[in-house]
Amino acid sequence: MTDFVRSTLVPLIYLVSSVLFIFGIKRLGRVRTARSANNLAAFAMFLAVAGTLLELGFIDYRWILSGMVLGSVVGGFIAVRVPMTSMPEMVALFNGSGGAASTLVALSVYWLKVVEPGIDGTAAALLGTAEAVTVVLSVLVGGITLTGSLVAYGKLNGSLKKGESILLPGRHVMNFVMLAAALVVGGLYCFSSATPDAGLVMLLIVTGLSLALGVTLTIPIGGADMPVVVSLLNSYSGIAAAMTGFVIGNQVLIISGALVGASGIILTQIMCVAMNRSLLNVLVGGFGGEQASGGDAQSSEYVNVRSTGPEEAAMTLESASSVVFVPGYGLAVAQAQHATRELADLLQKRGCKVTYAIHPVAGRMPGHMNILLAEADVPYEQLLEMDVINPDMKNTDVAIVLGANDVVNPAALNNKSSPIYGMPILNVHEAKTVFVVKRSLGAGYAGVKNELFENANTMMIFGDAKKVLQQLVQEVKELK
Ligand code: NDP
Repeated sequence: MTDFVRSTLVPLIYLVSSVLFIFGIKRLGRVRTARSANNLAAFAMFLAVAGTLLELGFIDYRWILSGMVLGSVVGGFIAVRVPMTSMPEMVALFNGSGGAASTLVALSVYWLKVVEPGIDGTAAALLGTAEAVTVVLSVLVGGITLTGSLVAYGKLNGSLKKGESILLPGRHVMNFVMLAAALVVGGLYCFSSATPDAGLVMLLIVTGLSLALGVTLTIPIGGADMPVVVSLLNSYSGIAAAMTGFVIGNQVLIISGALVGASGIILTQIMCVAMNRSLLNVLVGGFGGEQASGGDAQSSEYVNVRSTGPEEAAMTLESASSVVFVPGYGLAVAQAQHATRELADLLQKRGCKVTYAIHPVAGRMPGHMNILLAEADVPYEQLLEMDVINPDMKNTDVAIVLGANDVVNPAALNNKSSPIYGMPILNVHEAKTVFVVKRSLGAGYAGVKNELFENANTMMIFGDAKKVLQQLVQEVKELK
């Protein structure tokens, strides 16, 4: 490889790639530019891979190609097959893969540079103290991310019961002891005169402790806190990748990892506010367990619930001058976004003001509802965030809750014993009339009773969201 390639071309490619990553992530902040932002970031990734291959020069590509082919086949298969409602599980697995990759790369760098050459010297000196520190951090954060994400995956897909908090006795002390032990052993490796073999044993101990920590930190977390966990683990995977960038001396990995780490932590902060959890509480771990398992609310708990059908609902809509649609997880399950748009269009044609109220944790992942409604080409300007729409809720004629439950539960405001108490909600109960479209009085993700269903201004319309909306469309069409 010529000096020009190594000293000028490769750094230039890395620089362009990093800048494109930054622009990509900036443009992801707006729905309108998100699609092109994704393409930009994908191109940046292509440049980063090309730059790395150039930097490596003439090497044996067989392993790399096999990995790429295998990864592309598995990734392509999953991308086509996975339903929208399972995206959070996918994200959890992606985070876990990032953590696994960071841990494995750090360990293999140690093996290749310290153990395999069989040179005399201390483990830390053979690698360099700074690199040794980043290897330890990479292994530690990567390991926690890997097993934490697998637990999150299990909780999200229901194989580890979603609302169940497994509270290990003395877990805070246990987590603290394990973290302290990992740091002490990692510190010993970096700053003592351990032999390469002893260093390897120490690194494997740190790996084992971090894998265990990922489980013990995540397993106590109950259903309602899961979004925070997924976004925090996303941040961890970025931090682990940035550490690995230091280990292998790759600037673009440091920058892209830092971007993921920072944006993940910002998202975590936003989610914390939406879920009413403090960031410190989240970072310390073992959070939300006691409050999160609400148990499953039974329909027998409800009294004075009124229900109606599409025909009567259409008559109320006939005189409404403002309607707010409140999408939730059930809308995604029913795939009723197109029917919602159709009803909204009909109402608008009748001179009604239509908006959509978006709660930050409606659905099963951040931005779930925005993506769903964008699929049906709902105009972005009609999507209003919780803080914007809430003050206007009392002036709203009709709120139509579509498969949402926890995010509209007034217990969060007025029932101190409720597991979701303190979580900001969409104040649909303040609207003049509320229609709640869902199949039963069954509970939402947090498993708690929803007092909204008993309110005097609430009417339940029982049924699958798509079918009910299609009937509503029909009824509204028949209005004069
Ligand atoms: P919920 O999970 O609270 O409620 C969804 C409701 O949809 C259920 O009560 C269900 O009632 C109804 N439903 C299901 N299928 C259908 C259907 N085909 N037609 C009509 N209704 C249907 O959803 P929300 O969006 O209100 O709240 C999100 C919850 O998920 C929060 O607790 C949040 O913490 C959690 N969460 C959010 C994540 C995120 O990042 N956004 C990630 C992980 C969890 P029924 O069975 O009676 O039909």
